[in-house]
Amino acid sequence: MRTKANGGLQRSMQGSAEKNERRSFRGAKAVAAALVLCGVLYGGGVKVRALAKETETAETKPRAVAIVIDDFGNGMSGTEAMLELPVRFTAAVMPFMPTTKQDAEEAYKRGHDVIVHMPMEPNKGLKKWLGPGAITSDLSDEEVRKRVEDAINDVPHAIGMNNHMGSKITADERIMRIVLSVCKERGMFFLDSRTTHKTVVPQVARELGVPLLSNDVFLDDVYTVQHISKQIAMLQKHLETHESCVTIGHVGPPGPKTASVLKSTIPKLQTNVRFVKASDMVRSLSGDPFILPDA
Ligand SMILES: [Zn+2]
Repeated sequence: MRTKANGGLQRSMQGSAEKNERRSFRGAKAVAAALVLCGVLYGGGVKVRALAKETETAETKPRAVAIVIDDFGNGMSGTEAMLELPVRFTAAVMPFMPTTKQDAEEAYKRGHDVIVHMPMEPNKGLKKWLGPGAITSDLSDEEVRKRVEDAINDVPHAIGMNNHMGSKITADERIMRIVLSVCKERGMFFLDSRTTHKTVVPQVARELGVPLLSNDVFLDDVYTVQHISKQIAMLQKHLETHESCVTIGHVGPPGPKTASVLKSTIPKLQTNVRFVKASDMVRSLSGDPFILPDA
């Protein structure tokens, strides 16, 4: 049965809010490229070491791509096709939704990473689009902490977190300090979806020593095969100048198309790219043993 909130979420996938979020991401792309953000780990002062390690292995190791698929947990279209992709990826599962447990268990069983897809308030759009348990800017410190902890407890096998929407919250230092502190306490990494170029996540994560990955390419902000294929080309271009790339796609309205493009292009890309889970990328970039809750 679909609750009002879930119906609202489904609509939001087609609505303007996420598109606006992604537009602002596109606007920030030049800045992001200039900062060489691709897959760079900011946690605990390991960035320099991580880059040195990447340079050392650049000639021997194929470049790494971490596919992250957002919006699991609401029985969205394309769910099964995504879970059957021929490579391991990272499933970002929303908490407190009708298929949260089922999707997280299925993804885990098939060897994919599971992370919490934490709903966070955007600059534009309605709060009801966020779904239950969302982080909004009007919450007290205590309530933010409680919601983050409850969300982590609701998604089985979660080893990290990324933001659903969240252009307003990821620019809010008070709130992100609490969110990332909880990640730190729970041994989780954070993946900044980068829905705003005003994000404070890199700075706060570095300060707290939380392992961080950042999105480089949204695959399906326009729901056409042509656009998704164009984004795959952008991913390849990104890898010409970077050792790794994090790319985000979605189940939901674009899901079947995204899954189908990935299914057909993954074997071609595998000739010179290796697909890794987000946790593998965190481990290889840090050079440190990263103890995961389920490891
Ligand atoms: Zn999302």
